[in-house]
Amino acid sequence: MEFLMVQLTELKQRFVEQFGGDAAVISAFQAPGRVNLIGEHTDYNGGAVFPAALTFGTTLLIAPREDRKLGFASTNFPAEKEIPLDGIAFNAEDDWANYPKGVVWELKQRGIELSRGYNFMYHGEIPNGSGLSSSASIEVVTAYALLTLEGKPTDTVQIALWSQHAENEFIGVKCGIMDQFAVANGRKDHAIHLDCDTLKYELVPFRSGDYKLVIGNTNKRRGLVDSKYNERRAQCEQAVSELRAAFPELTLLGQLTLQQFEDNAHLIADETVRRRARHVVEEIDRVGRSIEVLNKDDLAAFGQLMNASHDSLRDLYEVTGDELDAMVAAAREVPGVLGSRMTGAGFGGCTVSLVHQDSVERFIAEVGDKYESATGLKPAFYVCDIGDGVGELKGEA
Ligand code: ADP
Ligand code: MG
Repeated sequence: MEFLMVQLTELKQRFVEQFGGDAAVISAFQAPGRVNLIGEHTDYNGGAVFPAALTFGTTLLIAPREDRKLGFASTNFPAEKEIPLDGIAFNAEDDWANYPKGVVWELKQRGIELSRGYNFMYHGEIPNGSGLSSSASIEVVTAYALLTLEGKPTDTVQIALWSQHAENEFIGVKCGIMDQFAVANGRKDHAIHLDCDTLKYELVPFRSGDYKLVIGNTNKRRGLVDSKYNERRAQCEQAVSELRAAFPELTLLGQLTLQQFEDNAHLIADETVRRRARHVVEEIDRVGRSIEVLNKDDLAAFGQLMNASHDSLRDLYEVTGDELDAMVAAAREVPGVLGSRMTGAGFGGCTVSLVHQDSVERFIAEVGDKYESATGLKPAFYVCDIGDGVGELKGEA
């Protein structure tokens, strides 16, 4: 991660102003945000995803305390919290501090009881609630830091699983494993080909050459996302139960090949449910093809797959919405764009586009204008490189 030393020095000063003590005992950690390049709504179907860690994320400064309390501060949120370490439970009044509290709770479930209290100060560069996984980033950086300071192993696959479990059970958000996995295990200039069923993964070089990943934030509130998400999950389960007529052992759509699906799609009675299932199976196939073309450095072919992914999410899975569609349509009109798609759960959030570096400025201006006149919303753009997963910032400042 590229975090400027001057920022770290300033953050340490802020930490000392907030909590007192000596700046020399502060440790610093970082976890990135993530973007999913292709493979959307495949994770909970046991299929593959293809996320990458970003070069911006969440920085955590942390120092031990004399008492058994946890002090929480964030440069992104005003509320500061002091919470007894023993007897941690979800409390709506603790607002964002429930995310790190959930990690402490999770560690305790796993038999790792903190030996003392800590002060935490977070500094997030990821827009919250936009699908770039600021929640996974804060969870993973917290878990990694606490395990390090407590002298425990920092297995990044385990950290991902524990962080996901904390978000599922403590926060109550039924997210899949992709976000925490990418944030914990990302690697500079690589995307992660992750099988969400087996957790087998492979780092795939993403040699973007003269092209940049540009993330566009629609800044649309994701109002309906939870109910629609649950509806899609139920439709996928419905498809599985009907396909069991041909595959009695089937538990997840991701277990089917495209051909097996084609041969048996007629078993799904409802046309809408059939379209949902088709998206999932074809999208998983697109992830496999993406790896093939990227291994040949064929970015143009990857761009085509990104486009096909968005079109399927729009027409078959129906999770895009006017804002994402408007932004993607505007992006594809800019010369030098190889592909553009929504990323994340949909219904708002972000798009990701592969843009020639000489076109980035024009891209931001033109897509920004067209998007704003189509929707009345002001977008934000981030020109990204692929960065490393969670780690300690050593020797800086
Ligand atoms: P996403 O993960 O898509 O960004 P979520 O709604 O899952 O959106 O998580 C966002 C929430 O995570 C924030 O509202 C806040 O509670 C918490 N959070 C994320 N980053 C920080 C941070 N730097 N400081 C404090 N809380 C944070
Ligand atoms: Mg989240």
